[in-house]
Order: sequence, then structure tokens, then C-alpha cells
Amino acid sequence: METALQLGRDPVPGRVVRVVEIPARHGAALEVAKGQVLRVIDVEGQQVGDFVCFNRTDLRERYSPQNTVLFNRTIYPRIGATLVSDRGRPMMRLVADTVGVHDLICGSCSEEYYKNRLDHAAPHRSCRSNLAEALAPWGLALADVPFSFNVFMQWPVQPDGSVRPMAAPSQAGDYVDFLAEMDVVAANSACPSDITPTNAHRPTPMRFVLYDPDPGGAPGSRP
Ligand SMILES: [Zn+2]
Repeated sequence: METALQLGRDPVPGRVVRVVEIPARHGAALEVAKGQVLRVIDVEGQQVGDFVCFNRTDLRERYSPQNTVLFNRTIYPRIGATLVSDRGRPMMRLVADTVGVHDLICGSCSEEYYKNRLDHAAPHRSCRSNLAEALAPWGLALADVPFSFNVFMQWPVQPDGSVRPMAAPSQAGDYVDFLAEMDVVAANSACPSDITPTNAHRPTPMRFVLYDPDPGGAPGSRP
């Protein structure tokens, strides 16, 4: 399982604490202490991750895509952008990013989306249910899961206001690093969509690497 790209296309600037595999079409969750950095890796390329987080000490406080747009004043987050909670507090900060393309406005695929919008009659795994499944050990249910920060998702807004579904531009080993600004429970779904172009019609695995940054090591990290 050790590969050159296990930690992504660059080494982590710190000490690896945990590596968690996120199987294709599934989700995973873990706790990240304040000051730790969570790397989310696209293992094979062109894979979108639907990412959410919760305040570890009060799980009722959760990631808010709307506050994240409002506070950062953009729908296209760049390095330095904060993931903001529904209580208007910084939860995590984007401190490294090898792709620079993400989506904050389209939310997550759901069982209803496949059935009612994509006319897919058979049951289909979804990011909403993947996140609920991964977060169940913390007592969180589907209704608790906020809409997501969509890592590597490329559905750009067109001049007429429509969004254009395109395949993720990420390549094998690409990653984002999120620095925890508070103790959080974080979850990511390797989006199972094989119907829209989102994952180039080929859902693949992702990976978490949790690390303690070297003092001054992670770009943007505070000692
Ligand atoms: Zn999805």
C-alpha cells in the first residue's frame, strides 16, 4: 500500500498521525485537533470529495457553505480561505492546494437527486448518505449533515447564471490541506456519481492524511 504518492504529490510538512483510506463511492470521518492539518488526496485523479466538518465539542455547530461564501466573499476559495461554521466562526483553513478548483454552491448528491433529477430509478450511493454513514459513530444523522465544500469539483458558473458540469481537473496525488482552527470532526465522501461528468464517469478512492505540522511548516499555520 506504500506508494510514492501515498501522502500526495508532495511530502507533508510535519509528522503523519493517521492515514485513512476512503474507498471509491464511500465516505470516511475522523477527529482533527486544533492546530493539526488534514490532507485530502485524490488518489487516482478526476475525483471530487464532498467535505464537511463539525465542532468536536458541540456537534450542533457545523460547516456552512453559505457563511463560507459570505465571509470569504467568493464562490471560488483559494489558499487562505476559511471554512466557516453556521455560527460564523472559522473551523478550518485551506493552507495548501495543488488544484485550485472547488465548488461551494452545488451542495451534495443525494438519493433523491439520482432519482428525481437524473432519472436513475435504481438505488444509487450518494454523498449525503455516505457522509451520514461515516458520521454515525458520533451520533450524527442524515438531517445533521450540512451541504458540503466540494473539493476539486469543477462546475463553473456561466455568465447566464447556469452551472456547467465538468470533470474534476485533479490528477493522481493532488491534494488540499485543511488546518483545524478548532477541534473538529471532519468527513469526506468520495463522490459516487458516475452519471454526470463530475468524476469523469469513474468514481475512485480518496485518502485522508492527518498530520501535526512542523512549527512554521504548513503554509499559513500558526505556531
Ligand atoms: Zn456526490
